[in-house]
Amino acid sequence: MNEPDQRSGCAMIRYDTQDGLAVISFDNPPVNGLGWSTRRAVVEALDRAAADSRVTAIILTGSGRVFSGGADIREFNTPKSMQAPTLHDLLAAVESSSKPVIAAINVLALGGGLELALCAHYRVASPDSEVGLPEVKIGLLPGAGGTQRLPRAVGLERALNMIVSGAPVRAKELAGKRLFDKIIERDLLAGALAFARDVGARSGPHPRIRDLKVEHPNADGFLEVARGAVAAAAKNFPAPLKCIDAVAASVKPFEEGLREERAGFLALLETSESKSLRHAFFAERTAGKLRDASPEVKPRSVSHIAVIGAGTMGGGIATVFLNAGFPVTLLEAGQEALDRGLKTIRSNYDGSVKKGRLTAAQKDERLARLRPTLSYDELRRADLVIEAVFEEYATKEVVFGKLDAVARPGAILATNTSTLDVNRIAAITKRPQDVLGMHFFSPAQVMRLLEVVRGAKTAPDVLATVMGLAPKIGKVAVVSGVCDGFIGNRMLEPYFRQAFFLLEEGALPEQVDRAVEKFGFAMGPFRMSDLAGNDIGWAIRKRRAKERPDLPSSKVADLICERGRFGQKTGGGWYDYKPGDRTAHSSPAVTEMVSEYSRSTGLPARRIADEEIVERLVYALVNEGAHILEEGIAARASDIDIVYLNGYGFPLFRGGPMFHADTVGLYNVVRSMRRFARGYQGGVWKPAPLIERLAEAGGTLNGSTS
Ligand code: NAD
Repeated sequence: MNEPDQRSGCAMIRYDTQDGLAVISFDNPPVNGLGWSTRRAVVEALDRAAADSRVTAIILTGSGRVFSGGADIREFNTPKSMQAPTLHDLLAAVESSSKPVIAAINVLALGGGLELALCAHYRVASPDSEVGLPEVKIGLLPGAGGTQRLPRAVGLERALNMIVSGAPVRAKELAGKRLFDKIIERDLLAGALAFARDVGARSGPHPRIRDLKVEHPNADGFLEVARGAVAAAAKNFPAPLKCIDAVAASVKPFEEGLREERAGFLALLETSESKSLRHAFFAERTAGKLRDASPEVKPRSVSHIAVIGAGTMGGGIATVFLNAGFPVTLLEAGQEALDRGLKTIRSNYDGSVKKGRLTAAQKDERLARLRPTLSYDELRRADLVIEAVFEEYATKEVVFGKLDAVARPGAILATNTSTLDVNRIAAITKRPQDVLGMHFFSPAQVMRLLEVVRGAKTAPDVLATVMGLAPKIGKVAVVSGVCDGFIGNRMLEPYFRQAFFLLEEGALPEQVDRAVEKFGFAMGPFRMSDLAGNDIGWAIRKRRAKERPDLPSSKVADLICERGRFGQKTGGGWYDYKPGDRTAHSSPAVTEMVSEYSRSTGLPARRIADEEIVERLVYALVNEGAHILEEGIAARASDIDIVYLNGYGFPLFRGGPMFHADTVGLYNVVRSMRRFARGYQGGVWKPAPLIERLAEAGGTLNGSTS
């Protein structure tokens, strides 16, 4: 191979020639995204290869770790994404090349990356490389010919499955399809060069996927079944059905299908669902970035984990780290509690094996890395210790006192507290800079959200370490400042206050839940409270009543608790439950109790519209979120959205509470709040100053901070 030729003058690709073959390698880390500079460089390289009479064939491949991950997300929503040469221009340049173009797919070709490869005349790939069209995951369809060429290359059914699911498929699973001309087992580039030499010697024209026909014995029947299945599963998302429409058009003449694909793509681009999904996609990437990150801050190394407390959370947190490959020491106060905790961890793993999610060997390997103990001496080697003992300051004080004595210097000490003051916990130790909160959600091994609570003295490298660790343990982390309830639970308080006021005004729990679930929440407030335990909210309300006697609160939820109706765990809460069954059944006793309480308020009876229920609950979240933002507890509105999407069942197709408020329009949100302020217990409705300001200026919560 020749030295990379600097005359290409562009760092986004490498251009090499060897024995009459040109090799164009994308070089745009991290995933060789097809941004404007890369597109331009490839088009220029193609022109150069065309003009070089010695070149007989052109190989397109990816340098670094992948072929191409598709569009360069750094250019999303910027004019550059549509600047010539566009992706379509690049694809056309490849497809119309007079010299054969061979795409040599290494590791990954996704989205536009695969669409580009589909325009090459030939494709070769390593067997484990993955190809896919994931656009549906951001509410779109592949808009650069993918819906037309993939069915021609792998068949209608396979293409439809790939496009509707967005899931990548290994090249070896597609061996024998028209997509790949050759699967190359060993050195991909050497194999690609040999292949290119061969096809370069052939006379043209070279094959184009667009010239193939989609054959299916019963396309209409198949598509009808697919539409039925997808319509049921995709409920609030229009993209999967539009994907089917586009794939269906692949049986038509190519250009006609392409036009239908384009129309579908443009229609989806404007839907609020796609906008929400794209917001969530970027919000998740942004959440991991520290606002005040500095290149001088180097994360600490973390390889040994210790967890204190083997209860609900401790057991789950230990499992999270075992699953991610870490050795975990699990400490308890007594043998019995330790045995109980271990039994739960084991039986959860057994369940996973039974369901086929894990092999028995994987289970054994994970459990072998778990080291149960009763002795703090065993924690001396830990790099990160996570405390998950009882939610009492006195217990935490004992634990952090002991930890301070044994943990090695530089070890990170985290608390999983939900409600206690992380600064106060840090102050128990002589190393508050090493202390922070890691607020996992229950069940910890399932829920993706992790609130990382930054104490007043938490060192930047401690924060950076934990934020860097989050993706390695499969979590999406959001930084929260210290305040009561952090981001997520703090917002629940006004949300529940509204839910209870609605009962006083004549609504029933099932009506409130139904309205909110129709809006898209995974669970309404009353079902959620029954699941978490009504006694937890009761205890918090009692504490808050002392701290904030000025805030009006409803007694209706206390009545439920006074009757011992704590929720699913007591067989009844806002609903009735049958033993061993989590299905919520309306409770005549609760209906009677709520109605009686409502009558006692002396309010005139009125039918509360679902729209009002939803607005009052969601805007209560939004308003508290705005306070959280203004106080700097959350760095960005999108961080708050990530918390609610991943920890509280907020509907993804609405993008999170803050994005939803932006979509509705802050002017309209403030108007509704003012209307609520004139209603029952209206005193709690004071639009947060940030919202008022933005509404006045025509701004958005997300635009204000990100
Ligand atoms: P839990 O009662 O299920 O478990 C607590 C465990 O800590 C028990 O096994 C207990 O034996 C052990 N323990 C008590 N004192 C100890 C000591 N001195 N040393 C070692 N172990 C000790 O409680 P949980 O629900 O797992 O909650 C633990 C922490 O996680 C609390 O701070 C809680 O606020 C927080 N949290 C709970 C949830 C939740 O949904 N349960 C969610 C997020 C955070």
